[in-house]
Amino acid sequence: MTAVPLVIIGDGLAGLTTAQHLLGSGVPGAEILVLAPEAEDAKASDAPCSICHPFPGQSFQLRPHVLDAFAAADRFLSQSPPHLRRCVRAQRWLSEEHGQRSRLLKSYDRIQSQLSGAVRVDQQYPSSAHPKNVSEIFEIAPAWVANLKGICDWMREGLRQRGIQFESGVLQRLRKEDGKWSVNDGVIEGEKVILALGVGLPSFFPALPHQKVWGHLVRGERINPEMDIVIGDGHLTSMDHFLWGGASFLPQQEKPHAQQEQEAIDALKTKMTVLAGREYAVTDKWEGARLVMGHERLPVAGEIPGLDSCFVIGGAGANGLLWLPYLSERLTQELQTRQEIIPEAFQPNRYDWDCWQPDRQKIRS
Ligand SMILES: Cc1cc2nc3c(=O)[nH]c(=O)nc-3n(C[C@H](O)[C@H](O)[C@H](O)COP(=O)(O)OP(=O)(O)OC[C@H]3O[C@@H](n4cnc5c(N)ncnc54)[C@H](O)[C@@H]3O)c2cc1C
Repeated sequence: MTAVPLVIIGDGLAGLTTAQHLLGSGVPGAEILVLAPEAEDAKASDAPCSICHPFPGQSFQLRPHVLDAFAAADRFLSQSPPHLRRCVRAQRWLSEEHGQRSRLLKSYDRIQSQLSGAVRVDQQYPSSAHPKNVSEIFEIAPAWVANLKGICDWMREGLRQRGIQFESGVLQRLRKEDGKWSVNDGVIEGEKVILALGVGLPSFFPALPHQKVWGHLVRGERINPEMDIVIGDGHLTSMDHFLWGGASFLPQQEKPHAQQEQEAIDALKTKMTVLAGREYAVTDKWEGARLVMGHERLPVAGEIPGLDSCFVIGGAGANGLLWLPYLSERLTQELQTRQEIIPEAFQPNRYDWDCWQPDRQKIRS
């Protein structure tokens, strides 16, 4: 049996950034253990190309605390290896067809007054390099493009070197025994447990309002330097001399079947063909699932109601790079001070106690 003060379950971006902040706040590496399966289906954090900017979704509305979160993401990405990320100006193209033009133009003035100097949004008219139906372009700066998988691999290596123990295994049962959390009937024992399970979370809390959303990324050759990063209904992004496209959102429990996958990839190919002005060849693809929380679609972090010293972080949906560096920093401060540091919008107790009723076969306090 391994006994440690802190057990983090899950080694995606949520678990890794939490481990990193704990180390940064003075917790010795030897006091932290990360448990995650070695080989399995790709986790969300295996995404080879991710974007990060403060306007996720289909509008320019600023979500609660998003500028603080973006500042944290900006610090996090600035410190990661330069070959794994790029700071860019992201273009959001507006066309009449998308039906969003008037909504976005309306919110443009409002957001300008709310933005700090650190984030800029400029409105421009398109140049000839853009498709004819594009009538306006917003440029958002800074924004980031990153190889999320590369960054996570780099973090794992760094954390290992700083003394954090990584153990291979799957959480099956969590029991509170003599004031401590026992993982898988005593294989590991921890004073505090942090669940960073990604889409694995609802199998422990079946009543939690959530969606599991599948997505695809495809890779092909770069089109031209002007089409560096375009966001809107998904994104097209250049990274590592390739163009990556991502725009499928399939909300379902099971893995997409072959036809669904093909349709998603064809839709991306069509988009890239329109931009390239020629038949576009997809050379590589990637598929993964992300956890989206409730109708408010905001992540969750903090102590789970009714489960003393058992914490959760995750549910960042398609915006892990934006939310997780910030929330893991806050969660670490909360763990250290035992004060409520995480803003209300993200706290687990925004859901009724009933929603956090664990599957009793798996978790018992
Ligand atoms: C197609 C796609 C495109 C995306 N694009 C972007 C993007 O452009 N920008 C952006 O910011 N974000 C993007 N994301 C989202 C981002 O990848 C996620 O928000 C983030 O990676 C989630 O990290 P996580 O640590 O919460 O979950 P994960 O990375 O899924 O990690 C969960 C961890 O928990 C482990 N686990 C699960 N169950 C158990 C168990 N029972 N026992 C032990 N371990 C367990 C898993 O093995 C894994 O290690 C995208 C995601 C997808 C799928």
